Amino acid sequence: MESIPYDKRLGKIWFNGKTVDWADANIHILNHGLHYASCVFEGERVYEGEIFKLEEHTNRLFYSAKRMGITVPYTQSEINDVCRNIVNIQKVQNGYVRPLIWRGSEMMAISAQKNKIHVAVATWEWGSYFDPKLKLNGIKLNISKWRRPAPNTIPWDTKASGLYMICTLSKHEAEAQGYTDALMLDHEGNIAEATGANVFFKNQSGELHTPTPDSFLDGITRREVIKIAESKGIKVIERKIKLEEMKDFTGCFLTGTAAEITPVSQISDYDFKVCDVITDLNKAYQSLVRKKSAA
Ligand code: PMP
Repeated sequence: MESIPYDKRLGKIWFNGKTVDWADANIHILNHGLHYASCVFEGERVYEGEIFKLEEHTNRLFYSAKRMGITVPYTQSEINDVCRNIVNIQKVQNGYVRPLIWRGSEMMAISAQKNKIHVAVATWEWGSYFDPKLKLNGIKLNISKWRRPAPNTIPWDTKASGLYMICTLSKHEAEAQGYTDALMLDHEGNIAEATGANVFFKNQSGELHTPTPDSFLDGITRREVIKIAESKGIKVIERKIKLEEMKDFTGCFLTGTAAEITPVSQISDYDFKVCDVITDLNKAYQSLVRKKSAA
């Protein structure tokens, strides 16, 4: 089934302090956020009508804005309320929330000192990020020719739009080659992350190894999965991981708000098994996010 284009859906969007009709949540094309990527956002999941880790996401949204020199004209607690309200208005049960902050149109060149700061929050019902069948058996990744930028070249620890330019390029190339996603290396050639998710490996002794997030997003899901693994007595090691080390790992999975826990069966020439450790972590994560049905 073709999905309905995102600008053609029905319902309400919270836009600069008002709840407006979906069709009226528009901006002018001469907009600094669009031209110069002066835009930050979040991606949150709704499980059984509740936003998972809402406060953490709002914290990161405000941190991203601050790093971009953007003063948000609302408090964090106001944005938390807005997110919860719009989910209720839209009656989203299992879906996604997208808060977005960007610079407006008052000035149109590199400088944007006088531009109004716009804020919007949209939400919609949404299923799996990756094809559920692929997700069960493990997805296949290629290795992107694009690297995560060095930490002194961009506000790397934010969810700022500009960081996603190379993610889309990488993902498109992967899809054109028959892969589902791409593994990205960091500026020094260490393993970094996928295009929209963090990566973990499992070795033969059952330990998890994951790259140190020093030039890419330390995902909220990543941190949660580390906690779950440690609570199960699984050792988690954060360190620099070289590409060639993939031959020593038997398992691999991605973590992210959208990706949740997604097993990986192949990265370029390296194969991995979807083992019990990964399946169990996935089950534990699913029961954590769906607390109501677990209760
Ligand atoms: N890396 C990138 C580039 C991402 O876009 C995401 C998704 N926000 C992640 C990692 C995972 O972060 P989180 O678990 O907070 O969703």
